[in-house]
Amino acid sequence: MTTAQLNVILLGAPGAGKGTQAERIVARFGLPHISTGDMLRTAVAAGTEMGLAAQKFMEAGALVPDEVVIGVVRERLAEDDAAQGFLLDGFPRTIEQAERLDAMLADEDRAVTHVILIEVPEDELIKRLAGRRMCRGCGKGYHIVFNPPQREGVCDACGSELYQRTDDNEATVRNRLEVYRAQTEPLVGYYEGHGVLRSAFGGGKMPDEVFTQVEQLLEAD
Ligand SMILES: [Zn+2]
Repeated sequence: MTTAQLNVILLGAPGAGKGTQAERIVARFGLPHISTGDMLRTAVAAGTEMGLAAQKFMEAGALVPDEVVIGVVRERLAEDDAAQGFLLDGFPRTIEQAERLDAMLADEDRAVTHVILIEVPEDELIKRLAGRRMCRGCGKGYHIVFNPPQREGVCDACGSELYQRTDDNEATVRNRLEVYRAQTEPLVGYYEGHGVLRSAFGGGKMPDEVFTQVEQLLEAD
């Protein structure tokens, strides 16, 4: 493994602001952003075989089965732009996935170098998630409190209608947080044990303030 590699995993509950931090990490460090959520949503929209298999789990707020997700990640990590580093977002979500990722990387004489955990209190997560809206036309994201459009329900960029993603309604949000606690939180202990876990505090903070912490964590070894 060369010292130049930044093999990064971003962890945090749904609503912790991983997407925003991921964009900034990618821009600052030049890493390819590997978001399993985006890859799966693209497959669902395209109606591929994998997309149809994933859809029923996603709509219920449940995790997509390992074999589907791991196959997607393996193919993506084999692409040229991931050879010197990557930012994984939305994967791994379970200890088993983490172990399979470690094995996958070890085959290439690589390893995870940084796991960045964004910590946000649960009541704040619920408030953030339930207010999210997305544009039907261009996909731009809004928030009814934190980032409202100029005209209610209408996209500033393209004028299309805004909608609430099926997995952001309150019942599904609570289910997603429960799934996160049960299945993903144990990863914190797993990566702590591997000496690669680093925490950033996102509660009540603007994305800029969180990114300042994240940047320092990635620049330190
Ligand atoms: Zn739009």
